[in-house]
Amino acid sequence: MENLKLATLRPDRQKTTFRIGDVTVGKDFIIIAGPCAVESEAQIIASAIDVKEAGGNMLRGGAFKPRTSPYAFQGLGIKGLRLLEKARRETGLPIVTEVIDSRDVSWVCEYVDILQIGARNMQNFSLLKEVGKAGKPVLLKRGMYSTLAEWLNCAEYILAEGNPNVILCERGIRTFETYTRNTLDLSMVPAVKEITHLPIIVDPSHGTGRLSLILPMSLASVAAGADGVIVEVHHNPAEARSDKDQQMPPEMFRKFVVEMRQLQRFMQESGTRP
Ligand code: PEP
Ligand code: MN
Repeated sequence: MENLKLATLRPDRQKTTFRIGDVTVGKDFIIIAGPCAVESEAQIIASAIDVKEAGGNMLRGGAFKPRTSPYAFQGLGIKGLRLLEKARRETGLPIVTEVIDSRDVSWVCEYVDILQIGARNMQNFSLLKEVGKAGKPVLLKRGMYSTLAEWLNCAEYILAEGNPNVILCERGIRTFETYTRNTLDLSMVPAVKEITHLPIIVDPSHGTGRLSLILPMSLASVAAGADGVIVEVHHNPAEARSDKDQQMPPEMFRKFVVEMRQLQRFMQESGTRP
């Protein structure tokens, strides 16, 4: 692929791996879970405990929410970050949260383990350069109208600033289909692996917007060779302040983790490779 210098697969086919908490990204299959947004102390701590007890590896939760309407809940900002820090102290789970403004990157870094760049900001080049200078791994979501080449060039922006720890995240693209919130393009998982050394995870929560489709598409992500999934979990989805239709309640997430680990184990033990 043209113009990619750092993201392309190396001659020795060595993959990018790095340690966060007790997992190695790019090697272990990681399950990142948590609410769409941090809403209150009770909510994020309960969610973090749910995620930890079920066997999730990291906690997600937005403190800055990029919403379609300016009147919708925009997130708790710094208060949300402090609550995420508290959730990490209580559970030991590393924190993944979105940053939406280049001016916030350096101080947000003090609270989080992975900086998320959302779909709407995938091509915000000043933000990409800023997270490229930050000393934290970056989860780079695919823009909803982006080609693979555009997406990988955005990863290249981060790598070119000296940050080698980029995780790609397929979260669905806009198509003519309206039954699902987006069209989850799982072909990106093997395609990314064919071209780059970067880990790729899948977000079937935003990718489908439907609770009933999250487990099947997550299992398909394992089968396709993904390095992990990021899913939304809320202790009381009906009360959620954003994305209430796609957040799994804790009981559902517990079963989800069991089924995901079972498929992973089956693939490992049987030597099934995508
Ligand atoms: C999110 O993960 O909170 C989010 C807003 O997702 P996306 O950027 O993929 O829409
Ligand atoms: Mn969401």
